[in-house]
Amino acid sequence: MTTTAESVSGPMYLDDRLPDGYVIVCAGGGGEHSFLLSKLGPSIECPRCGRTALSASLLDAYYERVRGALLNRNRVESVTP
Ligand SMILES: [Zn+2]
Repeated sequence: MTTTAESVSGPMYLDDRLPDGYVIVCAGGGGEHSFLLSKLGPSIECPRCGRTALSASLLDAYYERVRGALLNRNRVESVTP
C-alpha cells in the first residue's frame, strides 16, 4: 500500500493541474523538464525530448498520489481526539 514517486510507470508524470492546463514533468533525455498542456489527448508527447506517455496512466498516478495525500491527512485528523 505504499505509494512512492518511483512507482510511476514512465519517465513522465503529471505534476499538477492548473486552471490553464496540466503540468507534465518529463525526466527523459537527461535532466528533468516540465511543460504545460492545455488539453490531454490519448497520449502525450514531450516537446523537448520527444518521449511519449499515455495520459491515462499519468492521470492514474496523479490521482493515486492525491488520494494517498488525502488519506494521510484524514488519518492524522482521526488520531486527534
Ligand atoms: Zn522530455
